[in-house]
Amino acid sequence: MKKWFGILVIGTALLFMLASINTENNKEATVDVTEKIKEPSYEYGILADSFDVKKGIVKSGQTMGEILYANHIDHPEINTIVNKSKEIFDVRSINVGKSYTVICTTDSSEKAQYFVYEIDATNYIIFDLRNEIEVYKGKKPVTIKLKTASGTIKSSLWLTMEEQKLSPKLTAELSTIYAWTIDFFKIQKGDGFRVYYEDKYVDGEYIGIGRILASEFIHKGQNFYSFYYKENENFGDYYDEQGKTLRKAFLMAPVEYKRISSRFNRNRKHPVTGRWKGHFGTDYAAEKGTPIWATANGTIIKAAYTKNNGNYVKVRHNGSYTTQYLHMSKIKPGIRKGVYVKQGDIIGYVGSTGLATGPHVCYRFWKDGKQVDPFKQKLPAGDPIKKKNREAYMLVKDSLMTILMN
Ligand SMILES: [Zn+2]
Repeated sequence: MKKWFGILVIGTALLFMLASINTENNKEATVDVTEKIKEPSYEYGILADSFDVKKGIVKSGQTMGEILYANHIDHPEINTIVNKSKEIFDVRSINVGKSYTVICTTDSSEKAQYFVYEIDATNYIIFDLRNEIEVYKGKKPVTIKLKTASGTIKSSLWLTMEEQKLSPKLTAELSTIYAWTIDFFKIQKGDGFRVYYEDKYVDGEYIGIGRILASEFIHKGQNFYSFYYKENENFGDYYDEQGKTLRKAFLMAPVEYKRISSRFNRNRKHPVTGRWKGHFGTDYAAEKGTPIWATANGTIIKAAYTKNNGNYVKVRHNGSYTTQYLHMSKIKPGIRKGVYVKQGDIIGYVGSTGLATGPHVCYRFWKDGKQVDPFKQKLPAGDPIKKKNREAYMLVKDSLMTILMN
């Protein structure tokens, strides 16, 4: 799923930079404290009142062993800790700049009783060093605040990202949701969006955005809605106002690209040979080494090198559709004839092998044996909301729509 996130990010990021943005909190929980008594203090769920709590940041080159040794844990014990934690956490993977906490006795031995290492903003590992050494994972509670943001595109797309006011992650998520629907390189003045999403906080500190719950994109006067809905415990996705999936059987691009350097054109002068010959592909310019994705599920029917194509891969998706990806610097190891790939799987890396002037993917698309322009095709859709969930979905959608429009 993450593989899709990058699609058209650059375009959208530029777009949001240009949009005027209003954000506001919709929900915020408040607690009234009427009486204050001395409350016990906890650190990572450990009652810390009777201990000495020392906080630190891992320094360059510092090992966990050094930190523990400085807190009066001797080497045989450190060895036991390393061995006991193997299954849960590799102590060699502690990183410079990460926070840790040592909880020590207050007596003259000042011996560490607990060591806590923060893996990221929410996840941590506790080493309980008291008797039998125990190692376990913990998670800080995340507070979610729901927010709405909206904007209108005021000028062209092509400007720097510096003034961007929304999280780049939000931009990336939105572009992923609409990756199958909107070509963000064609966003124009007057287009706009509304989005209803989660902001995440830990210990009162903002740690980033969560999920987008609903959004509207207005493009060329048309409204494109997305509503998040969980069909079951393990699967949630975005659907439109009628419960149709926003996914298509094909991604709109095989790569996170910088620009389309040449479109499908039946009459073009070849940039290398100078001969007039049609260009039966779409060229996506991207940096050398950028991963190339299969745009739909299918079976590899060719993974080879030719003088003109360079390293290339051809995928047969079904009886009607076939796609091909040219000029790769490298075909991904394991990608060979007969291998089945899923939409978004990496099949190779951008390059300029064969007849190419610079690093790009020449993406070719066949329908019923004829090369066509995928941008002009009405491509098949993914599965809609399941029938049994349809009614429930419509209720969720209605309430999200109300929030989005207010
Ligand atoms: Zn091409």
